[in-house]
Amino acid sequence: MQFHTNGFHKGSPEIQKVAKGYEGSQGELSEKLDLLVVGSGPAGLTLAAQLSQYPEIKTRVIERKEEPMYLGQADGINCRSMEMFEAFGFAQKVLKEAYWVNETHFWRPDESGKITRDAKVQDVKDGISYMPHTVLNQGRVHDLFMEVMKNSPTRLEVDYKHSLISVDFDLNDKEYPVVVKVDCAGEERTIKTKYLAGCDGARSIVRHAIGGELKGDRQGQAWGVMDVLVKTDFPDLRYKNIIKSKNGNILLIPREGGQLTRIYVELDRLENVGDSKSITLDRLKEEAKKIFEPYSFEVQETAWWSVYEVGHSVTDKFDDVPVDEVNSRNPHVFIAGDACHTHSAKAGQGMNVSMGDTFNLGWKLISVLTGKSDASLLHTYSLERQIAAQGLIDYDHKWARVMSAPIDDKKINVKDHFIAGGRFTAGLTVKYQTSILTAKAIYQNLANGFVIGERVNSAPVIRLGDAKKIQLLETIKIDTKYRIYIFNDRSNPTEKTSSIYKLCDYLEKDKNSPIVKYTKKGDDIDSVISVYGIYQQNHQELEFENTHSLLRPEVGVYGLKDYEKSYCPDYKNGDNIYDLRGIDKDEGCIIVVRPDQHIANILPLDGYDALEKYFEEIFLDQK
Ligand code: FAD
Repeated sequence: MQFHTNGFHKGSPEIQKVAKGYEGSQGELSEKLDLLVVGSGPAGLTLAAQLSQYPEIKTRVIERKEEPMYLGQADGINCRSMEMFEAFGFAQKVLKEAYWVNETHFWRPDESGKITRDAKVQDVKDGISYMPHTVLNQGRVHDLFMEVMKNSPTRLEVDYKHSLISVDFDLNDKEYPVVVKVDCAGEERTIKTKYLAGCDGARSIVRHAIGGELKGDRQGQAWGVMDVLVKTDFPDLRYKNIIKSKNGNILLIPREGGQLTRIYVELDRLENVGDSKSITLDRLKEEAKKIFEPYSFEVQETAWWSVYEVGHSVTDKFDDVPVDEVNSRNPHVFIAGDACHTHSAKAGQGMNVSMGDTFNLGWKLISVLTGKSDASLLHTYSLERQIAAQGLIDYDHKWARVMSAPIDDKKINVKDHFIAGGRFTAGLTVKYQTSILTAKAIYQNLANGFVIGERVNSAPVIRLGDAKKIQLLETIKIDTKYRIYIFNDRSNPTEKTSSIYKLCDYLEKDKNSPIVKYTKKGDDIDSVISVYGIYQQNHQELEFENTHSLLRPEVGVYGLKDYEKSYCPDYKNGDNIYDLRGIDKDEGCIIVVRPDQHIANILPLDGYDALEKYFEEIFLDQK
């Protein structure tokens, strides 16, 4: 973590210096905004936390509730979201505080009808992510995003008791075309904004305003859910359990803090359930007790409970531009999270996919609003996330059928399906299709473990500047920078004849280099594209000072050297990133990574033309 780049930083490194114009309280909603975010759930806060880093962009977040959420709703954080939290700087806090889902246990009735443990399965397969699957209250996840906002240069806060009433368009106003009416704690105000992000949940007003419709089985199965402190002799209370019994089904998820337990009771499996809304907490406890038999199950305290009824549905388009108008205008209104897709609680995707949406949207909006990229880039948000959501919903459907299958159905083995779907539930199957952002996989063979379109599957490396072992993914923070990771061939990277030296010379000086073309005069050389070198040599064999100057650039107000751009394999522990990720050691390669951690392109070390072509579509010339 670097925090003295622009002068000595006192106190907590997390608290950034407040930007000019943002001192004091943020005041009333202003009449003109760059971006208005509606809703402070996981989707809205993921977006707001990214935008809060940019004082030049006027962003506000409105929320109709009176105060932050403290209890309930989603709690599953998959491996992919944990990786994303690394960029926001709070993954370590979640690792410390959350419950880790290490193993899932499966229960079914034995011949006498009593539930018995059928199998124990490792929850996340080895090697698919360096992060675990965790469980943490949605309210705490909100807190962590809001902390990032509060510590940002804009000190952005959520405007509670602010309700979106309507959305209109002023087609004569090219700059601020979106007109919204907001109920600001009882006073109606009209706001004009360049962009509007509807993160306003399943009953989204923004979705209605742009003609979006949730398609699918919206009214799905109902689950009774309770967070309880319970006395029991059930032996696996601190494991995740999928329990199928003759009296109904339960999904048991241990919660953070050592004793709290979340119990989902599948209501559709219960007899005489009637209208699920008429279900009481006492009835839920009673049903859970029956399912746990012969084990005792005495609830001592209920922290939160609800009946959660939701199906699997998705809208066709996640922005305001119909498919047949994509070539003639750019989007100004976006929907994200539950506003455009809903999932059953069974596969634990709701909060994760919602955060994934706005992690994709954030850097694109910032790149456009700061003049780095053309506004047509924004079309890629709907294009990429609609397909991702559809894929996860298809999986959710399949999994729901498995969970609801009758217990005597010999063809369906819950455990086998669980294992087969492991990468889905870990959030690792999102693969963006070929587009201006995702290149064709021509050189995939140079790095088989880094799949173009998928997120970077991180691996450990040793930092040459200080011999610290880190994960490669830790080099990506919430910003709009592209990363170029140069995996050198076998040549010595400190020699001027090496492939990496030649490539860095080109990147640093050639007039056609994407770095030269798209970096504003006076800005740090790594402000648009940040280049990293990864070498095959042991870190003790190399002199940092002899690496190429692009890999130890002078940055910030004093032009201090950046010591964090060069990496070597971790030979001491036998973790060689070249072997772990299938990098061709003779050829080496260039891996181009987007700000949202997805792999954009893989090229040979002399693929200069292809590199130029790729970035021509993304950035505007700054010369
Ligand atoms: P949300 O978290 O729904 O956030 C939307 C926000 O927008 C809300 O804070 C809302 O108040 C605000 N809003 C809405 N309209 C307006 C408006 N007009 N003006 C201003 N603000 C507005 N998932 C599980 O996996 N397990 C569960 O047990 C579970 N239980 C749930 C219980 C409830 C009651 C709900 C609503 C959801 C539950 N979910 C559960 C789903 C999970 O919480 C969501 O998938 C996830 O929160 C989606 O995030 P989001 O940001 O898209 O939407």
